[in-house]
Amino acid sequence: MSDLNTSATIVKSPITGQILYELEDYGIEDLKSIMNTARQMQPIIRAMSLDERIKEVDKILRYVLAHKEFILENIIAETGKSRTDAYASEVFEICDVIDVYKKMAPKVLADAKMKIPIFLMGKKARQWKEPLGTVMVITPWNFPFYQVIVPSILAFLAGNAVVVKPSEWTPLKPLWEHLFKESGFLKDAIQVVCGGKTAGAELIKLRPNKVHFTGSVRTGKKIMALCAEQLTPVDLELGGKDPSIVFDDVNIDRTVNGVMWGAFTNAGQNCTGIERLYVQDTIYDKFVGELVAKTKLLKTSHPGRNTQVADDCDIGAITADFQVALIEDHIEDAIQKGANLLCGGIKEKGSHHMIPTIFDNCTQDMKVATEETFGPTLAIFKFKTEEEAIQMANNSPYGLGGSVWTSDLKRGERVARALVVGNVCINNHMINEANPYLPFGGIKDSGIGRFKGEEGLLTFCNLKSVIIEKQSDLIELQWYPFTKEKGEILEGLTTSYFGKPRKWIPFLKNALKSDSIGKKQKL
Ligand code: NAD
Repeated sequence: MSDLNTSATIVKSPITGQILYELEDYGIEDLKSIMNTARQMQPIIRAMSLDERIKEVDKILRYVLAHKEFILENIIAETGKSRTDAYASEVFEICDVIDVYKKMAPKVLADAKMKIPIFLMGKKARQWKEPLGTVMVITPWNFPFYQVIVPSILAFLAGNAVVVKPSEWTPLKPLWEHLFKESGFLKDAIQVVCGGKTAGAELIKLRPNKVHFTGSVRTGKKIMALCAEQLTPVDLELGGKDPSIVFDDVNIDRTVNGVMWGAFTNAGQNCTGIERLYVQDTIYDKFVGELVAKTKLLKTSHPGRNTQVADDCDIGAITADFQVALIEDHIEDAIQKGANLLCGGIKEKGSHHMIPTIFDNCTQDMKVATEETFGPTLAIFKFKTEEEAIQMANNSPYGLGGSVWTSDLKRGERVARALVVGNVCINNHMINEANPYLPFGGIKDSGIGRFKGEEGLLTFCNLKSVIIEKQSDLIELQWYPFTKEKGEILEGLTTSYFGKPRKWIPFLKNALKSDSIGKKQKL
């Protein structure tokens, strides 16, 4: 029996409400044993060549290709996603990430020759990328397969053992059991702990060498506080409230389709989904009219289809119970404060099957304008000038993603630079996430650190800096004993080298003096 009070005990289908299975009941001793296994695995992983680690990761890619339907079935059962959402952002993306890192890892993780300043002439400088040890990955429920696999394989490629605590809403327990059995992936190199929040917190207290956290700002702060107590380094990939700015020179048809996808894909359960839309006044009525008309045509999992998520469904279900309540609260708050409901709204209280909802006439005191909704809602605002649009878009505690739509690419770049966010697109939205070569992450309340890209490997490394020097009889200028003569040489070197203009002859004279004193001097 568990001696921990885990926060959720059952996993339900958001589509049918049916209980799928119970969460595992971890006690402290179970968690210690998992952490010990990871620590025992770590030297084995570290001793493997990168090529051997890449071969292990490739087994996951082969597994994904061979078991696509089983994977989709499990993801859809626990999240309620539409099939295309599940396929594109979990199955396809994992294949792409693995394919890219198979090519990128050898270059990024190779020992690097570094430059040295003239004062260290004769020495060599290197940077070695070594594993940190055991990495703990904590993940949310919106992309439960992708968010577990991607940071885990990056940490593994860098030579670490990994312990993952997936969301208690979507642990995908049957999928992990099948994957680790059937793929042939190195046993226990990545261990998945299908427990609740308390299991996550207790694992952190067992001092992994790094915590990589993806989730809400609220939990991110708790994780950082726990890590701070023991100086465990932590990456925080947190929430967002992405703005998207549409200027009046756009191709309206394409931009409407792009914005609609950016707002409603994955039923809006995206950290970088568009939640705030700023449209220039001169095209406002036409643009918003088309956006609303097209949004009304989207096929949702509601109503009458709520026992299954059809293959052709555009908008799947909302995964977590508490998220349904939060989205409803934001919709009610907006209506009560005078927002204009253009489509959607609450059709059936408490239902996980929600209709895409668009408001305009929104004001800054509404939750849809300021707090992360994480659902299929879009708040629209009108702007006149570029400056006004930038000011409105930046008026947020979040800084995850954003986008600018315009035919004038110079203006697009100017506005993209002015947005205080970690990820930005011009004439698209959140597609940065589909490029594993790009680092991803937020600023302000949206997080600390970068994930994917080269940084996504380096974040799991001890970047060891190395100086190599041959044995000799030289006593260096800055070593003991300190003498008046050495002080004068140091002064001469400093002023001749850094002064303007640089004085090479005095510099070389002082360098030679330093060398000859060093060879003669004995303490
Ligand atoms: P959450 O913060 O509630 O939970 C995330 C994970 O943290 C879960 O596994 C949970 O069990 C665990 N957890 C909760 N309390 C804990 C504690 N005290 N100690 C240790 N672990 C604990 O987030 P969620 O509701 O699952 O996910 C939605 C949030 O994730 C949204 O805010 C969304 O924007 C964000 N998100 C961010 C990114 C990104 O890359 N920036 C990506 C996806 C989702």
